[in-house]
Amino acid sequence: MKLRVGVDLGGMSAKLGVVNEENEIVDRRIIPTEKGITFEETIAKLAEGILSLGDVGMVGFGVPSSLMPGTDIVIYANNLGWKNKDIKTELAKHLGDIPVYIANDADSATVGEYFQGAGRGYQSVLMLTLGTGVGGGFIYNGHLYRGGNGCGFEPGHMTIRMDGVPCTCGKKGCLESYASASAIIRELSNSEAPSLKAFIAENGGKPTARMLFDAVRQGNAAAQDILDEYVKCLAVGIGSLVTILRPQIVLLGGGVSAAGDLLYRPLRALMKDNVFGYDVIGCPEIVPATLGNDAGIIGAAMLDHVLI
Ligand SMILES: [Zn+2]
Repeated sequence: MKLRVGVDLGGMSAKLGVVNEENEIVDRRIIPTEKGITFEETIAKLAEGILSLGDVGMVGFGVPSSLMPGTDIVIYANNLGWKNKDIKTELAKHLGDIPVYIANDADSATVGEYFQGAGRGYQSVLMLTLGTGVGGGFIYNGHLYRGGNGCGFEPGHMTIRMDGVPCTCGKKGCLESYASASAIIRELSNSEAPSLKAFIAENGGKPTARMLFDAVRQGNAAAQDILDEYVKCLAVGIGSLVTILRPQIVLLGGGVSAAGDLLYRPLRALMKDNVFGYDVIGCPEIVPATLGNDAGIIGAAMLDHVLI
């Protein structure tokens, strides 16, 4: 039985995993991908790691970048310093004819959750990852949606507020600018509320997304206002995506998704104001993703099942 290998390619390291027939990770390697070594050197190290796992039958990559439609060339992976890089061709020098599949990392994580996590048993799954940015993926009837021209699914850069806050992508008012952990940190940093300033100072002085939820749990009214606004923006984004894509379930991943009822209860309640047809068909469940960092590895190893 040949091995299926999933690779979750991050800025600091690549996480490699052998995924068995039950979609479980049964062997792992971590390969450093620090900046300062060339693309070719990194690929050589990755190939060595992959081949060390045994008799490999396929390799899937989740990469932190958009991909050039039709070619799978990495357009720009900021964390790795890679621009217009052809992973497949470079890997083939080491792996020969072992098939290699490539997808965006948020897409890979969605595929992992679809096969083995909170999306298991559904055919159409929407996932949003609420971290430094807002990423996401969409499985439609068992296939990974990458757009008619293959340019990818970028829910974080859907505009939710005209003339809104500038986004890292150059547009204004993107969902990411309001629903990421970075947006929470920005709002905490900008707050003039003495009670919130004091709370942040007491907790080390450096705001984090988790701090917002901790402050709300302690009854901090200014933190509650920030959370209310955050949930409202997220609800607008999810409501619009649900209206257009009609997934059977919505999964939330990333650090913020672990916030529990403080997040999910108001979010679900706001769906009635944000989903077209809610009175008739309601809204799919919105639940936390369950695989954490393993989603990207498992999803990458299953890419050949979902890429059209
Ligand atoms: Zn944007």
